[in-house]
Amino acid sequence: ATHDDPDAPVRATDNDAALARLSAVSKRYLNDPYIAALVPRAHLQEPRPPLINIGTYLRGQGIDELVDGFLRSAGDATQVQIVSLGAGSDTRFWRLAAGPHKDRIAKYVELDFPDNTTRKAMAIRKSRVLSPALGSPDVVSVAAGGTALRSPVYNLLPVDLRHSPESSLRPLLASPENPLLSPSLPTLLLFECVLVYMTPAASDALIQWFVDYLSAPLGSIVYEMFGLGDSFGRVMLNNLRSRNVELPGAAPYPDLASLSQRFLRLNFTDANALTLYSIRRSHIDPTELDRITKLEMLDEIEELDLVLGHYAISWGIKAPEAADWRNWRI
Ligand code: SAM
Repeated sequence: ATHDDPDAPVRATDNDAALARLSAVSKRYLNDPYIAALVPRAHLQEPRPPLINIGTYLRGQGIDELVDGFLRSAGDATQVQIVSLGAGSDTRFWRLAAGPHKDRIAKYVELDFPDNTTRKAMAIRKSRVLSPALGSPDVVSVAAGGTALRSPVYNLLPVDLRHSPESSLRPLLASPENPLLSPSLPTLLLFECVLVYMTPAASDALIQWFVDYLSAPLGSIVYEMFGLGDSFGRVMLNNLRSRNVELPGAAPYPDLASLSQRFLRLNFTDANALTLYSIRRSHIDPTELDRITKLEMLDEIEELDLVLGHYAISWGIKAPEAADWRNWRI
């Protein structure tokens, strides 16, 4: 299949992400009542190694905190829009819909390849855990031949993010008659493990399109591998290559500073980046760190540190009032 369809291995990376989350939940690192509904035969899946569970936990905590902080910094009085690019089996919409910020979300849009959105749309519709958050059945519709799911807040839409945003994103998100996204609401973009699969030119064009479309504050969170030019990074790259996954977006990001630079280059006002290594060392509450450390035996502490040092969360804000966003951090 790989031969006819070079994108199949990239789409399949979502399976790894979903299994990792399911595993971190079953081992009690994380609490997520929704992920099982998105994984076929969830109860038969084996847990992943401790190292994967810890990484999944740290990334989840870091991004949760930034999403919360975005809502706080935008101000209680305003609604926000969230767009998850390469959303895969992410459950964040359902976690937010069950939380205190539910009414602050004007739109939640998930984008992925049509194969993945079709599968997710079916899973959502047949799940009694997932479907209620979208609203009553008469406001939920399947569209675009089963590849899209639309509801008043949640929208799941098929797209190839490598294509020109003017011809692919604009009709979906910003059609002149009935734009899904308002240009005047604060908007948060989520890129979790997705930009690395695209060329730097394509991912820059994607972010730039949102910069140009929105007049309100724009926040962006990127979670990604980086620094793959060193010896451990090359081992990580070769592992992926053996599964036919190429990472055209990795080369320009040798270090943390380059991850922040991505945003500044695209005219964001401020940007930051943290490795999972430093999140574990300095940004997790000590009681919580103690709790997760006791969950499983971990032999390869050195390997853990090396892996965590090659993953980072970076985030940038583009807003006229920089001061409002000074506290947006992990
Ligand atoms: N963001 C989810 C998470 O963190 O759990 C899924 C991550 S998964 C590793 C990468 C996702 O990005 C896959 O679902 C894949 O199909 C999607 N993706 C990669 N390249 C894409 C593209 N060019 N257009 C649309 N989706 C893409």
